Amino acid sequence: MAAAESWLSRRGAWFRVLPPLLRAEYERQTRRQRSRSVGLVSLVGSVVSLLFYPTLNSAVPDLQDDVTRLFLCGAVPFSFAMALLVMLDPTPLLRETLLGLSGIVNAAVLTYLFVRTRIDATELYVASMLVMMLFVTVTVQVRFSIAVGVVAAILALFAEGVRVALDGTPRLHRDLFLAALVSGIYMLMANGRMHAEQQRGFVLTLRERLRRHDLFQRNLELDELVRRDALTGLANRRAYDAWLQNSWRQARAGGTSLGLIVVDVDRFKAYNDFYGHPSGDACLQAIARCLREQLRGTSDRVARIGGEEFSVVLPGLDGELCADVAERLRAAVAALELPHLDNEHGRIVTISCGAASLLATEPMSPRDLVAAADAALYHAKQTGRNRVCLADTVPVVAGAQPPLDRAAAGRG
Ligand code: GH3
Ligand code: MG
Ligand code: MG
Repeated sequence: MAAAESWLSRRGAWFRVLPPLLRAEYERQTRRQRSRSVGLVSLVGSVVSLLFYPTLNSAVPDLQDDVTRLFLCGAVPFSFAMALLVMLDPTPLLRETLLGLSGIVNAAVLTYLFVRTRIDATELYVASMLVMMLFVTVTVQVRFSIAVGVVAAILALFAEGVRVALDGTPRLHRDLFLAALVSGIYMLMANGRMHAEQQRGFVLTLRERLRRHDLFQRNLELDELVRRDALTGLANRRAYDAWLQNSWRQARAGGTSLGLIVVDVDRFKAYNDFYGHPSGDACLQAIARCLREQLRGTSDRVARIGGEEFSVVLPGLDGELCADVAERLRAAVAALELPHLDNEHGRIVTISCGAASLLATEPMSPRDLVAAADAALYHAKQTGRNRVCLADTVPVVAGAQPPLDRAAAGRG
């Protein structure tokens, strides 16, 4: 991302080299597609070059055998084979080299014919050499560095061809060469710009993709943060409310029940007063860890829903099973044996639990389930703390009888 930003922010030059990291990514992402497309272009190019055969034959009638042997049976099939090889997706360097080689071989054959013939074919030679440079740099668009090499090689052949074969003053040779040189430079500029534009388009797309990815990650983190309790690392009230609604909906769809346990630390105000608030925080963290460790399966989830209150959502569990889980939690917290000298229950930190379960059907709602569990917790507190009370689900509807005390619960 940083590499993309920095490369894009650099201004001015019409041709900028990609840094190695981006270059490798560019090659990786465009390689297959490029091999296929440039291979195809070269293939078509080599077939189209057959049109040149009759022209060449009539231009140098004294070398018809050579034209057939070197051009028709040599350069054209060679270019065709190179194009096929390129389509097989070799490494980028080999691919570009094969493409460049194809242009150089064609230029070499043309130069050979031009040098050997006794007929003046200067116009055709000049035109065909320029066409070769054009084909390699602009039509096939070989990579810039290879394009420079190919243009240099063709220009060298051209200079030699003109010098050896063309009667005339050195000035004519020089003028022809300069014209070809300027053409070659213009073609290389076009080649460089095309590559620069392609690379720029690639980097812009890459940056957009990375930005979107980054944004997505941050959203995920933010979402996670918003749902997490900072002190204990458990899910917070917001997440708990969402779970409850979702779990209720799923239970209703499946015709099952939803279990809930509310947990409250006993005499926690006294704990804070006695040991101080920071110790109170550490105690809450220890209890949170303990509760989390006691849960089984992925559907049972615990949240911190208030100061020293926790809640456990238990999809599919009936009241008895919820009470069993609650008892396990109570016993586990007691087993921590965290000292609490101001608690009459064995001078250790204890919790009280209210458990409830409802069959998720109309006219019940999650609110009824919470009310039932809260009532059971209230009952646990009223009847001595350090215990589990199971709500009787009937009173929630009737709003009459108190929850059932759970005999198995705590020993005060
Ligand atoms: P009970 O057995 O009836 O539940 O008594 P309690 O003292 O636990 O009940 P109460 O609701 O009166 O006190 C809860 C205390 O929890 C009050 C507050 O000091 C403490 N508390 C709430 N949130 C935090 C917290 O984040 N950190 C600490 N250290 N204490 C907290
Ligand atoms: Mg409380
Ligand atoms: Mg309490």
